[in-house]
Amino acid sequence: MDIIDELIQIVGQERASDDKTVLYAYSRDSSLITGMPDYVVRPVSTEEVAKIVSLASQRKIPIVPRGMGSGMEAGCVPVHGGIVLDLHNMDKILEVNTDCLYAVVEPGVIHANLNARLAEQDFFFAPDPASTDFCTIGGMIGTNASGMTCLKYGDTRKSVLGLEVVLPDGTIINTGSRTVKSDCGYDLTALFVGADGTLGVVTKAILKVIPRPRTRATVAAYFDELEKIGEVVVAIFATGVIPAACELLDRSAIKVINQYKPEIALPDVDAILIINLEGSAAAVEEEVAGVVSSCKKVGAIEVKTAATREEVDALWAGRRSVGSAIYRLDPKRASPNIGGDYGVPIKRLPEMLREVRRIAEESGIPMVAFGHVGDGNLHTHMPVNVLDEEELARAEKAGDAIYEAALKLGGTATPEHGIGASKIRWVKEESKSAYPLMLAIKKVFDPHNIMNPGKIFEIS
Ligand SMILES: Cc1cc2nc3c(=O)[nH]c(=O)nc-3n(C[C@H](O)[C@H](O)[C@H](O)COP(=O)(O)OP(=O)(O)OC[C@H]3O[C@@H](n4cnc5c(N)ncnc54)[C@H](O)[C@@H]3O)c2cc1C
Repeated sequence: MDIIDELIQIVGQERASDDKTVLYAYSRDSSLITGMPDYVVRPVSTEEVAKIVSLASQRKIPIVPRGMGSGMEAGCVPVHGGIVLDLHNMDKILEVNTDCLYAVVEPGVIHANLNARLAEQDFFFAPDPASTDFCTIGGMIGTNASGMTCLKYGDTRKSVLGLEVVLPDGTIINTGSRTVKSDCGYDLTALFVGADGTLGVVTKAILKVIPRPRTRATVAAYFDELEKIGEVVVAIFATGVIPAACELLDRSAIKVINQYKPEIALPDVDAILIINLEGSAAAVEEEVAGVVSSCKKVGAIEVKTAATREEVDALWAGRRSVGSAIYRLDPKRASPNIGGDYGVPIKRLPEMLREVRRIAEESGIPMVAFGHVGDGNLHTHMPVNVLDEEELARAEKAGDAIYEAALKLGGTATPEHGIGASKIRWVKEESKSAYPLMLAIKKVFDPHNIMNPGKIFEIS
């Protein structure tokens, strides 16, 4: 029997397709890398997933898990063809138990929908990607997504207590538990998080949920020298404060925000830090005082405590508008994810930012830098005409130079967006002596390399 007929037998005519127009829609994500699948199938239960994966295993064809395709590194792009498993219909919130600090969800649940449901009980799921409105919990698990508040609350891995997973041979296993702690042998739950779907398909997740902070305050500090940024973050930690968010806007980002939204009117300085503090009213008051005095001690030109909701919203609107601002700079230029996600030890942030400025100048590609400096994670946007091959190649070379610089400074080329197909080179360079062990683990789980092949590793 043809594979498409077998898939139809499992999920029905409506949820399996080999129609070229449907396949095209599944050939890309938010990266520049593309790959056509041979089939697309949309399961609604673990049993269906297990049957589809068993079929792929028997026929030795690739199987590629997909959430909403918002990934930046081609994680869900079928670079070797095969079956794309679109999991967005598995979107039930199965259980919310705030007394015991957990929720059980299917992988297709949208992050914002989960938090809307938890907000009814004044709880939340802490990892906070900016793609909250459209990314799925399965995709967040695949990429170990994080965001602005992971400094205080941790990345996705820190908030996953257990999983149900369909392994590459179709077996269903469970890891972890509904308890906040578990030491049951090797931490397989953690291994599946950030695996880019290369070890199995997540069909259920037990997530840690926590009470929402009762009070929040925002501080903005302006600096005339980039060098002070690393110093001030360290000074804040030394006062015993871990901010909920600690975001940097470098001169380049300030400029594009002011061009895009003049009403925000950010000052013309070298760097701005925007800091959020969350907790009880008394703790937040004390933390604001600590942050303000740290910023002043290190030499901020001005420190502002946003007093009203409007002031806070304006500051964060500026930070959140960086991406859109870059798109408006020049309608001919997109901002593909090139050299876009890297991290360095906090004290080395100024050196890294200087490197970015140097690489921008040398390459002739304008760059905008910003990021989650509290955890050393930076992003760069490069407005590039992707139809101009020479310009694109120059941008890619500049992107590589950025990642090389991050590694030289003791940092990482893989802090937040997963590996997918685009960061394979960096996994090898960064993991060095641990690389063979990672390859060996992949082979134990997936000896025939059918589970999302061409991601994390390129195995021949
Ligand atoms: C505007 C924008 C802002 C973003 N902001 C952030 C941010 O702040 N922080 C951040 O970390 N990321 C961010 N991202 C990247 C992306 O949104 C996240 O990585 C997100 O978690 C991906 O979710 P998704 O459902 O789209 O997954 P997809 O792109 O569909 O898949 C991502 C990876 O997960 C795997 N996967 C998906 N579902 C499963 C499953 N059930 N089982 C096993 N593997 C699975 C896929 O195979 C793939 O490798 C942003 C993207 C955009 C476009």
